[in-house]
Amino acid sequence: MRKASLLVVATTNRHKFEEFTALFKPYANFNLAPAQEYLRNADKLGLVETSDHYYDNAIAKARTCNHGCHYPSLADDSGLEVDALEGRPGVKSHRYAIPKAGQTQDQANNLKLLDELKSVPVNKRTARFVCHLALVMEGVLIHTVGSLEGTIATEMKGKDGFGYDSVFIPHGQTQTLAELGSEFKLKHSHRALAAQAMVEEVHKREIVLAKP
Ligand code: IMP
Repeated sequence: MRKASLLVVATTNRHKFEEFTALFKPYANFNLAPAQEYLRNADKLGLVETSDHYYDNAIAKARTCNHGCHYPSLADDSGLEVDALEGRPGVKSHRYAIPKAGQTQDQANNLKLLDELKSVPVNKRTARFVCHLALVMEGVLIHTVGSLEGTIATEMKGKDGFGYDSVFIPHGQTQTLAELGSEFKLKHSHRALAAQAMVEEVHKREIVLAKP
């Protein structure tokens, strides 16, 4: 039996769900569950990400999940914006490259990015992670944003994390997010900042999440 109020996370990305669980852990009144537990066809949630704007996609995922399960639903849409590539891969970060046989999606994405930047000097490799977060429940929509500035490394380094963590060096650091590990991300990442802002908004508005 769940003791706290339930918040269903509209993602099938295991890494994102683990990050959200750790981010909301200090707040006893949030109890996070993956969409697969409460939503039929949770694996199809990605189909509603049809917009070129993170904001629309985050809201669409949270709304779809909320309509399907009737519990408060949280969704993010996030991406990596590289200045030398005019903001690409951006909202298309997830499926940036087509993986070759034996490659994961993340490996293919990172290799494509490093290749595109191979002639770009270190001081021009600036980039940022962006996260738009949406909470949808009956009569309520809350939207928050977080970002993390940094540069793109010249090779993949580190084993922690997912996505582009192995090529992203946050400003003020000398290691990639994948080398810095989850403790750093839980304090400073784009997702952490958007989640902190979300918690503040929910508390400020004195919203009580549905009790399962
Ligand atoms: P979406 O938000 O599910 O559309 O996926 C966004 C994509 O951006 C992910 O699949 C990753 O490739 C990338 N991304 C988003 N957040 C992170 C992060 O924290 N670290 C590394 N890559 C990320």
